[in-house]
Amino acid sequence: MEMNSANVEAVVKQVLESMLSQPVSAPAAAPAAGGAIPKTAHVAMLTALEHYDVKEFPMPEVGDGDILVKVEGCGVCGTDAHEFKRDPFGLIPVALGHEGTGEIVKMGKDVKVDSAGKPLKLGDKVVTCMIFKDNPDITMFDLNKQNVGGADVYGLLPDDEIHLNGWFSDYILIRKGSTVFNVSDLDLKSRILIEPCAVLIHAVERAKTTGILRFNSRVVVQGCGPIGLICIAILRTMGIENIVAVDGNQQRLDFAKRMGADNSVNFMNHKGIEALSGAVKEAFGGYEADFAFQCTGSPVAHANIYKFIRNGGGLCELGFFINGGDATINPHFDLCSKEITLVGSWVYTLRDYATTFDFLKRAKAIGLPMDDLITHEFPLEQINEAHVTNLKQEGLKIAIVNK
Ligand SMILES: [Zn+2]
Repeated sequence: MEMNSANVEAVVKQVLESMLSQPVSAPAAAPAAGGAIPKTAHVAMLTALEHYDVKEFPMPEVGDGDILVKVEGCGVCGTDAHEFKRDPFGLIPVALGHEGTGEIVKMGKDVKVDSAGKPLKLGDKVVTCMIFKDNPDITMFDLNKQNVGGADVYGLLPDDEIHLNGWFSDYILIRKGSTVFNVSDLDLKSRILIEPCAVLIHAVERAKTTGILRFNSRVVVQGCGPIGLICIAILRTMGIENIVAVDGNQQRLDFAKRMGADNSVNFMNHKGIEALSGAVKEAFGGYEADFAFQCTGSPVAHANIYKFIRNGGGLCELGFFINGGDATINPHFDLCSKEITLVGSWVYTLRDYATTFDFLKRAKAIGLPMDDLITHEFPLEQINEAHVTNLKQEGLKIAIVNK
């Protein structure tokens, strides 16, 4: 191309423009992390049974090992529902919310990497797991030594002078010694689902210890709330095809099929355990289940599920997150003569958290409707309504989402 004066002028103009536009676009690309940090934070405190107050507290100092996170959202858990109704842990006044996620807006100079060794910077999206304290049995790399039951977690801590201890808030202060994971590669809904999914990753790991769960296993999942539905999703991402869902709510059973259950049985349509176990057998084409996951908190459901399982089969009981009372089984017929291998499962280990991040990506990749598990979103100011909706069991996962 021949350079005449008009061309030179155009090129100079272009260069000047690109130079001028540079400083304007640069700050947008930097981790601005949602602008300036306000002077105060808002925390939903459960101050009485069935009553939250959204309280305002001064934004705390961020120590050298601390991380200040701007909260994006947090799921409402069954544990929150129990605390809301009865305060079984005696924590009131308490900042609840442990299924939360948000963006790092400030961090101390000692914070460099997350609990898995991944670098952390301003603007990264994070979740927390538990707080180490000094329990040597809870470590990231002695993985299945102990689940996190009994450890402290944000959202179930006693109130203190900082107050920013739960994820039902607009800011939370993650203190030195906490476990924190960089999950910037997951979208908001996936991040809100991490904690309940980790419960199921752990349950499936427990199930695998029996040696009975295989690709071609016939698996029954009893209970199709969020926990049972996520159980089905995990089995699907593992390549287990032959799943029968059992519940009393047709809408939930329909969702179970979308999540990958082959067949479903509505227990409302079958009177008595013989009719019900017959229906489950029929749903498997005339076979009993090789393996069963019990995902309800009902003692009767626990007693029933043995009848669905073949001789030599396995059972993972994970429905009793809290004490739901005693169940009556017949040890001869249900356990001994059938040689059932039974495992219990409760909460998760730190390694299960890391596995969960990969599961969520796999679930999306094979088209499972994970996002649809979150049926209701409420702003922080409507936290009381969110809990009432949760207690009515109208939806699946209820979440607080900050806009
Ligand atoms: Zn939870």
